[in-house]
Amino acid sequence: MAAIRNVEEIRDGALAALAQASDRAALQEWRVRVLGRKGELTTVLRSLGSLPEAERRVVGAAANAARDVLDAAYTERAARVEQEELRQATERERVDVTLPGRPLPAGSLHVITRTLADVLDAFRSLGFWVAEGPEVEWDEYNFTRLRIPEDHPARDMFDTIWVDYTRPDGRRPMLLRTHTSPMQVRVMERRQPPIRVVVPGRCYRFEATDATHEWMFLQVEGLAVDEGVSLADLKGTLEEFARRIFGRERRVMLRHAYFPFVEPGVELAVDCFACHGTGCRVCGATGWIELLGAGMVHPEVLADVGYDARRYTGFAFGMGIERVALIRHGIDDIRMFYSNDVRFLEQFPGV
Ligand SMILES: [Zn+2]
Repeated sequence: MAAIRNVEEIRDGALAALAQASDRAALQEWRVRVLGRKGELTTVLRSLGSLPEAERRVVGAAANAARDVLDAAYTERAARVEQEELRQATERERVDVTLPGRPLPAGSLHVITRTLADVLDAFRSLGFWVAEGPEVEWDEYNFTRLRIPEDHPARDMFDTIWVDYTRPDGRRPMLLRTHTSPMQVRVMERRQPPIRVVVPGRCYRFEATDATHEWMFLQVEGLAVDEGVSLADLKGTLEEFARRIFGRERRVMLRHAYFPFVEPGVELAVDCFACHGTGCRVCGATGWIELLGAGMVHPEVLADVGYDARRYTGFAFGMGIERVALIRHGIDDIRMFYSNDVRFLEQFPGV
């Protein structure tokens, strides 16, 4: 019977094709082609009506049996393909737990922030406390009460950024502080001796920037007032500070300097980090780098805040934190600190 052979051919061809189907799309295509409503086997079943009674029964049974076989084969093949796809996906997405993790870039404190913290720590350990004051300051505190009245030639030392505020009398009394020294007056106004204070804060100068000058810089002011405070105390304090920050082997030198609000005035220099004292471009061939200005508080400044200048004496100093960091790390351009070049900043890792 030709019809039966036809059913067997369809069944065997379909089984062979099923064995080749290796993914879901191929399986779906096979299912439609073989078992679908317009599939080969369905066509045979539909044509049964045109066959004689006896043949119809035999061919119908054979076709139904073939469909059961193909159904079962399909279910088994589909399960296997699904399993294989799952295995491949697992392999593809496998996580190697022994791989090192991808490190996140760790931030750190800016080198100036850390230098400031170290400087303040050094003075705290010497018995100083920390105070802060306004960056927008009165002329009175920044200059006049520090013995720098109007028209005093020392005003030329400070290229001042004035605040755009004019009083009715035509004077312009406000400015961005050019140094932290106004806090000497502010602290003494509020307290009686003994005083040991350091004052960190930003200061401003109207000047062009170069390798050693910035228009904005961080200064730390120091002030100690008590009975019997002498220049020797100033020297000892600054030497101890310098050794703590720059290392025990660094040499320091005090030399005379002039500041209107101290008498005598001194300047503390450390030996050059670049040439170690032999003289080079960085230190201007002197072998020394100026670190800070200091001196004994002028008796008139003490008297101005109401202190008894015959009973109390004091010393004061002011240093640029950028300069401390320059010398400490051997950096030769102050502009590096605020240019925010990550390649520079990353050279100072840590906390
Ligand atoms: Zn040098």
